[in-house]
Amino acid sequence: MRQILELINFFRPSQVMDWKKVSPIHPKNRGIPTPKGTFESSCGSCQVCVDHCPTAAIQKVSNERLVFDYGACLQCGSCSLFCPEERLKDSGFVHVFSKHRDDLIVAYENGKMLLKVSGEDHSNHLEFTKLTERSGFLYREVAAAGNNTVECELNASFNSVFDSEREGVRCVASPKHADAIVFSGPVSQAMEQPLETAFAVIAPPKALVACGTEAVSGGLFPQGKLPKEPDLFIAGDPPRPDVILLAFRHLMGRFSFSFQEALHKFLQSGK
Ligand code: SF4
Ligand code: SF4
Repeated sequence: MRQILELINFFRPSQVMDWKKVSPIHPKNRGIPTPKGTFESSCGSCQVCVDHCPTAAIQKVSNERLVFDYGACLQCGSCSLFCPEERLKDSGFVHVFSKHRDDLIVAYENGKMLLKVSGEDHSNHLEFTKLTERSGFLYREVAAAGNNTVECELNASFNSVFDSEREGVRCVASPKHADAIVFSGPVSQAMEQPLETAFAVIAPPKALVACGTEAVSGGLFPQGKLPKEPDLFIAGDPPRPDVILLAFRHLMGRFSFSFQEALHKFLQSGK
């Protein structure tokens, strides 16, 4: 009987995620909050979304202009839930990652996104891409005072659906064997030195990856000192395994992506 089952399994189609079919919109996730469409009037003196945001991810620059820092957004849904005019929605947009921190900050004028030009790759990005585009990379994970949710999703990225290893991306026990450090959490004072040491022992070219909203901005907590500006920012509390792997593919130069352009395209589609 066992042999028959093994034979059946052998011929079953693969369940591994197909990168060509991955969408930035996930129907079961809240994703980032976005305007429902353009507003017919300004928000006036209302401040409800700003006051309800636990991480100060929303700034009201004027009655017309709201600025969202999606690198600080926990995707908690409070702003859309409490907006008295129902002007915000949970978009389901989950591809919140970039090589540049500024790209994750988006301004809206009366609900219309003001598209920014994405930052250009700097020399470290290019060197890391050259090293890893064909072969993948090894990383050491540093849990820098997070809540372990990012680690759960990183673990899940190795399962048979996401299959990190098919991209040549593996987790190693020692930073001495790694090409990159992937860290989670806001980096408490006690974790500043271990994170710095782990990054320092890697031979260049190397990359520092901030994984999860707390690592990108501190989230609910003040952010500690980082060894350097990260080379990749992956927001989400925690980010999904497919989002983490797609961001890694972007860092390796296998997937061309601009958060600003992808979000703009999604908003233009009116979905
Ligand atoms: S953290 Fe919550 S309240 Fe703040 S912008 Fe994100 S979804 Fe809205
Ligand atoms: S989006 Fe809603 S909650 Fe935020 S300022 Fe405008 S009306 Fe107020």
